Amino acid sequence: MTAQYDFIVIGSGPSGRRAAIQAAKLGKSVLVVEGRKRVGGVSVHTGTIPSKTLRETALNLSGWRERGFYGRSYRVKKEIGSEDLGIRLTKTLEHEVDVLEHQFLRNGVHTMSGFARFLDPHRLLIHSPDGSELIVEGERILIAVGTLPFRPDNIDFADPSILDSDEVVHIPHLPRSLTVVGAGVIGIEYATIFSALDVQVTIIEPRPTFLDFVDHEILEEFVHELRDRGVTFRLGTPVASIAKEGNRVLTTLEDGRMVRTEMLLYCAGRMGATETLGLENCGLTMDSRGRLKVKADTFQTDVPHIYAAGDVIGFPSLASTSMEQGRIAACHAFGLPLPPAPAYFPYGIYAVPEISTVGMSEQEVRDKKINYECGIARLRETSRGHIMGLEQGMMKMIFSNKTRKLLGVHIIGEGATELIHIGQAVLNLKGTIDYFIENTFNYPTLAEAYKIAALDAWNRMAR
Ligand SMILES: Cc1cc2nc3c(=O)[nH]c(=O)nc-3n(C[C@H](O)[C@H](O)[C@H](O)COP(=O)(O)OP(=O)(O)OC[C@H]3O[C@@H](n4cnc5c(N)ncnc54)[C@H](O)[C@@H]3O)c2cc1C
Repeated sequence: MTAQYDFIVIGSGPSGRRAAIQAAKLGKSVLVVEGRKRVGGVSVHTGTIPSKTLRETALNLSGWRERGFYGRSYRVKKEIGSEDLGIRLTKTLEHEVDVLEHQFLRNGVHTMSGFARFLDPHRLLIHSPDGSELIVEGERILIAVGTLPFRPDNIDFADPSILDSDEVVHIPHLPRSLTVVGAGVIGIEYATIFSALDVQVTIIEPRPTFLDFVDHEILEEFVHELRDRGVTFRLGTPVASIAKEGNRVLTTLEDGRMVRTEMLLYCAGRMGATETLGLENCGLTMDSRGRLKVKADTFQTDVPHIYAAGDVIGFPSLASTSMEQGRIAACHAFGLPLPPAPAYFPYGIYAVPEISTVGMSEQEVRDKKINYECGIARLRETSRGHIMGLEQGMMKMIFSNKTRKLLGVHIIGEGATELIHIGQAVLNLKGTIDYFIENTFNYPTLAEAYKIAALDAWNRMAR
């Protein structure tokens, strides 16, 4: 007999997991089907958590945070190998998976290992790792299958020195030099993590600019810092070929320039994991990048009882936003009304140095012809920054001259991805510059940068 569920979720990444638990809390029978051996998705196994664990390990073992005091040659561990990176990763991932499995168990969510494929709009064929097949039926279905790295046919990914953004997590050894193709968030994060480990990094990006959504002043600061520590940028020219030349990887650009490095990391985009999902059997089609179209407020596809959430629907492709999408989809599927989502969500770029941003950038404010003023604080201006030996890092705040409301906060440097939430709260609560001027902040903290930046803007604002 075919097993029947109120809600079937395909994929156990952030959107699938959050949707499943939300539906279970509403008393629904829920099945999560996961193609990998263990739950967690790209987020836990190859994306967010592994890359952030690698970053933390690299910063700790390299003594990065102490170099302001002890100089650029300071190291906590002299020789850092891939096994050093691996140990912490394994422990972190084990813990994450354990927490998730427990969460599913506690909430009565059934999980099944295997790849799902639509047979028709309500039935799925599950192909299990042991080769057995099973048909399950769902009243409502969520497609939360995420993405796979884009791998052009003309690049030999079988070569151990050419990696994609999933494979780099288990890098065979630490190279002396690395080419990173693609200056999106993932490429930039890995490029700067390896640079912090003293790997000679070259970043190649076909477009003349990168991270365009980041405030330009913050980006300038970022590029300056990376160039200062020897990262090379090759922007504005596409890659013509990637081939092996002896024990090096030779990347030739269309303008004839060449880059030779020990390893290459290819991070030029990801594709929705929809190719084998049998979408044709349920009346859905994907775009050229394997993505699905949904209604922005409900996450319903063109087939109303089938929802899609997470990276498979494209922008902004973050674990944080995927979770929220999953929750909204489940609530809508079972008739639970939700208030509209807040206007602004934060972006975190866990590069070295990290960047975080919420609200409008200066270029957006200008484009909208808003009368505005900016305030800047350097993290080294705070006592906490002195204690930590911070030489770099800045916060930029943008306020409306007319309403005094906060319009955007942009931070580069230590703690940026945590600090941003103060700005996010004030922004979404429609607060003004007065919040920062009038309130007391803990001392000594990096959060004092908010007060410094606000006072900087206040000094120049029309009163
Ligand atoms: C290197 C890297 C770093 C990142 N860093 C951050 C970060 O710092 N912060 C942040 O917010 N986001 C980050 N992201 C993005 C984040 O990982 C994704 O936004 C998030 O994982 C998307 O979640 P999802 O719900 O779409 O599912 P995913 O996490 O993509 O998981 C989808 C799951 O579905 C499974 N699946 C696919 N097809 C089937 C099928 N047919 N049947 C059964 N199961 C199937 C897959 O095996 C997979 O486990 C990063 C991504 C990468 C690659």
